[in-house]
Amino acid sequence: MINVTKPFLPDIEEYTEYLKGIWERNWLTNNGPLVNDLELKLKEYLDAKHLLYMNNGTIALQIAIKALELKGEIITTPFSFVATTSAIVWEGCEPVFADIDKQTFNIDPASIEQLITPKTSAILATHVFGNPCDIDAIQQIADKHKLKVIYDAAHCFGTKYKGKHVFNYGDVSTTSFHATKLYHTIEGGAVMTNDAELLKKMAYMRNFGFESFESFACVGINGKNSEFHAAMGLANLKHINDILRSRKEQVAIYDKELAELNVQRLKVQAGGEWNYSYYPVVFKSEELLLKSVEKLNDNWIYPRRYFYPSLSSVRYVKQYATPVSDDIAKRVLCLPMYHSLKAEDIAFIARILLRVQNNQ
Ligand SMILES: *Cc1c(COP(=O)(O)O)cnc(C)c1O
Repeated sequence: MINVTKPFLPDIEEYTEYLKGIWERNWLTNNGPLVNDLELKLKEYLDAKHLLYMNNGTIALQIAIKALELKGEIITTPFSFVATTSAIVWEGCEPVFADIDKQTFNIDPASIEQLITPKTSAILATHVFGNPCDIDAIQQIADKHKLKVIYDAAHCFGTKYKGKHVFNYGDVSTTSFHATKLYHTIEGGAVMTNDAELLKKMAYMRNFGFESFESFACVGINGKNSEFHAAMGLANLKHINDILRSRKEQVAIYDKELAELNVQRLKVQAGGEWNYSYYPVVFKSEELLLKSVEKLNDNWIYPRRYFYPSLSSVRYVKQYATPVSDDIAKRVLCLPMYHSLKAEDIAFIARILLRVQNNQ
């Protein structure tokens, strides 16, 4: 069986080495030494000024929205994982959907500006499939209208924009280290910011608002992560260059094997360096997509319709016209990509897809 993704696992000994220390210290969670070590190593690897490790990418988004004290309307993308939208609603704000660019699949800066009202407080954009947004254009709009910017950078480990890791942009950048992501800590996430005050606030929020054992700086939630998760993060970080390299090779193999497949591929944003984290293809029609999925499934291959449906159609949000997102969401399919996926597997997937196309 070939799934759309499969988590990377280090050798079990690399993980158990960390477990011995956990047993010796009997310190399992609450900002332990492995969590601290992981934060330091991630900051170093990512060249990030400030970073807080959290229990998942959704809580990271919610804490970012809360810490920036966002109110009213937040302009966001309908082409993302549902957590991007639900975090806004969960924090009592209203998502306003801009449309996306049909080549990069990211929020289209041109469609942001016309949606700004006196109630708009921020832009929450996703760097979809690890492809950076048009960050300069978004920041220009934000500066002009005094809006905050949050990036949901859940797909972006290893992605750069203008030579810097993409997590360095926006007022806050959040990410996920969930098992399905390119770099993972089983469950996990992080917030990154260049603002020391904001960092302090988010650190309080991550730990119930505790300022000392007997006083609270602000309202908080439980956003902490455990030593066991940090241990997986530390073990996996040692393999990150290998993980990134194999993704890049797999994309090259897909490109070659699928050269004759009549689909649209992702266009990397100008100024961006992609991390090759997903392999999305956009079929000519939804019918062709469904037929391709059926044939792949017949062969125990399970790609995923990332992202479908377009989030402006979610039941608990106000509807907006986002024709490009609706159209791409219906026709896009992410093909399997993970560290241990073999060249033969990719060739097999390609043969099936080409057979479906040629029978049309
Ligand atoms: C995975 C993902 C999230 C959620 O992260 P979790 O760690 O699973 O909570 C949010 N946004 C996007 C774009 C994602 O892909």
